[in-house]
Amino acid sequence: MKKIIRILSEFVSARWLRKWNSREKLEKYQDKKLEKQIKYFEKKSPYFMKHKVDLNDFFMNKQFMMENFDELNTVGVRKDEAFKIAIDGEETRNFSEKYKNISVGLSSGTSGHRGMFVTTDDEQNMWAGFILAKMLPKNKLFGNRIAFFLRADNNLYKSINSFFIKLKYFDLFQDFETYVDELNNYNPTILVAPASMLLVLCKKKLDGILKINPIQIISVAEILEKKDEEFIKEVFGVKMVYQIYQATEGLLGYTCHCGSIHLNEECIKFEKYYIDEKRFYPIISDFRRKSQPFIKYKLNDILIENKNRCECGSVFTRIDKIEGRSDDIFFFKDKSGKLKKVFPDFIRRCILFSEEIREYQVFQVDFDKLEVAVLEIKDFQKKEITKEFDKLFEKLGIEGVKIDFIEYTPEKNVKLRRIFQKIKKEL
Ligand SMILES: [Zn+2]
Repeated sequence: MKKIIRILSEFVSARWLRKWNSREKLEKYQDKKLEKQIKYFEKKSPYFMKHKVDLNDFFMNKQFMMENFDELNTVGVRKDEAFKIAIDGEETRNFSEKYKNISVGLSSGTSGHRGMFVTTDDEQNMWAGFILAKMLPKNKLFGNRIAFFLRADNNLYKSINSFFIKLKYFDLFQDFETYVDELNNYNPTILVAPASMLLVLCKKKLDGILKINPIQIISVAEILEKKDEEFIKEVFGVKMVYQIYQATEGLLGYTCHCGSIHLNEECIKFEKYYIDEKRFYPIISDFRRKSQPFIKYKLNDILIENKNRCECGSVFTRIDKIEGRSDDIFFFKDKSGKLKKVFPDFIRRCILFSEEIREYQVFQVDFDKLEVAVLEIKDFQKKEITKEFDKLFEKLGIEGVKIDFIEYTPEKNVKLRRIFQKIKKEL
């Protein structure tokens, strides 16, 4: 009951109550909230208790977060224990295990370095209420069936299920054939998947195998390219494709009903580190998340700002594009010679199993050949990476892929793609 009330109250606040008609008012609200948040951390976070944090010259990033994980979080979670829980979940595909009533998730973000995040039950309920408030269609609030395609079924994503809405989770690990009937029967009204998976579903829809007719399509976890967006719109006959810009660091942005991505300035204060007139790196301070401080935290995504006010009337920063997260799908042959898709997230994960890796690229140069480039790679990391790929391939029934370790030399002035498919694109 407590859970439902929490979700509902957040839903109502986020859908109808929290509104700002000017930037000034919004910024005042954020500063007040942030001040309160810091005070909270000064009482609950060992790191903030020990160090006097001056916001003018304090910064965090993923590396800092991981190095000071035990001291930063306010819920007494130790990194090594939490990590073990998260890894066990990934291996057994059983994600219901909690540690001290806290859910642990791993991220394989695009910035290289592996991240770990913790959330409490309360934060999960809030997240569910918030996301529903932002994503449910205007004219159909109740009775929606959501189909969620994700790599890991973190507890975070499950919290929607028991409410006035249905949610079914589809594991990206499985073959399309294994769940196509289930998906057709379920007939979701809302489809949530990484962009690359949406494209796969489009093709199945065109082939006539997939018969679903969602009224809302939401792209998550990867960047949605313009041409792909057009294709998805056409195939499913929807007016637009929504995007959720979510990372370990939180729910950073989402598409409004007019089709623009806005930063989530309702929960996070964004500072902008500009690299040209429109492009910037966001520095975020989350003033709602209590379990793990994200204060003056530098993100590696490059955002392209649109300075024109959106028709929806929102005062939140409008984003034209999130750069630097577009990766490719890889294709390998299984034992029977059939091509199997492997999503970028799986490839990233093999690399990020090794803890100290920051800069890397993986190229597929042939159906049976990968090239892995890691900055200053050590021998034990090569072994770990090879072992992870072996495990992945075994799971997917893929054989005989050779891995070469090459020097890390990213091309200058070109958008960095970490997972890069060099064989012919249309397969
Ligand atoms: Zn808008």
